[in-house]
Amino acid sequence: MKAAILVEPKRIEIREISAPRVGKGEVLIKPARFGVCGSDVSFYLGHRVAPYPFLLGHETVGHITALGEGVTNFEIGQRVIVEPNYPCGACAFCRAGRGNICPNKQALGVTIPGCFADSFTAPAEFVWRVPDEISDADAIVIEPLAVSLHALWHSRAHIGDTVAVIGCGATGLLLIQAAVAQGVRVLAHDKFADKLAMARKLGARVVESDDIAKLWRDENVTVVFECAGATATVELALSAAPRGSQVVLIGLSSAPASFVPLRLVREGIDVIGSLIYDHPADFARVIALVKEGTLRPSQIVTDTLSFDAMDRALQLATTGQSGKIVVTM
Ligand SMILES: [Zn+2]
Ligand SMILES: [Zn+2]
Repeated sequence: MKAAILVEPKRIEIREISAPRVGKGEVLIKPARFGVCGSDVSFYLGHRVAPYPFLLGHETVGHITALGEGVTNFEIGQRVIVEPNYPCGACAFCRAGRGNICPNKQALGVTIPGCFADSFTAPAEFVWRVPDEISDADAIVIEPLAVSLHALWHSRAHIGDTVAVIGCGATGLLLIQAAVAQGVRVLAHDKFADKLAMARKLGARVVESDDIAKLWRDENVTVVFECAGATATVELALSAAPRGSQVVLIGLSSAPASFVPLRLVREGIDVIGSLIYDHPADFARVIALVKEGTLRPSQIVTDTLSFDAMDRALQLATTGQSGKIVVTM
């Protein structure tokens, strides 16, 4: 079968590899389209090191082509998406309902080979049927939408509040769409004009300011969502967040960032991290919201490329100037 293999940093080749065999409790899926994500980009750039040659990819919508032993809740031909993080279900964190931080968690295309191929297997427990009301175009963006909604649900943002979103990539844009839909006002920040234009289209306000701290104070910002994952933006969030506000870190930056502890303590600023989503509650809620048409996550898709152009899709993603990039099989 055809697979898009990361041979070394900055080089993806379409190669023939042997098709996977479906194991006990698994389903075999033939993808129809893929989403390119920030974590694919960090592998592509070599910021995260993979055991080369490595099969990337964790965002997909496709059809079931085979059922493993013991799988009774799916049928061949059904259209599905995958929740691509597999917590162990047995550790203390999983038992406490915190599978998103499970230390034994496996992640498709991150800790195990991914889905950028003609077919791949996934545990049936993490496979979700896509209702007919949801198009492939929206289905492919459900996984990243779950990341944004998880952050929003865990934040203190309430109807009528004003929040700030730093970084208008897929996570930031989806967060804006969801926040606006539930009556939260959003101030959007990004260094690229195109992404700010998308943020505006999704209902955010874009205000030019040299003094972000003052802007946020004047606007009564109650929550700052850091979605860019860069040192400068994390430092901005922690230094400019208004008195009594909350900072939600979603961006995945492994570089150190500095802050003044006294300011956070004295001004009562809470800092939380938000990682992926809760299994299985979040996917169920997100699929329902998209099915009902409350959210249309496909609005953030800016580029669609063919499978043979996977390397170009990743290259394009490294510029940071696109919204969601989709690849079709
Ligand atoms: Zn992703
Ligand atoms: Zn666990």
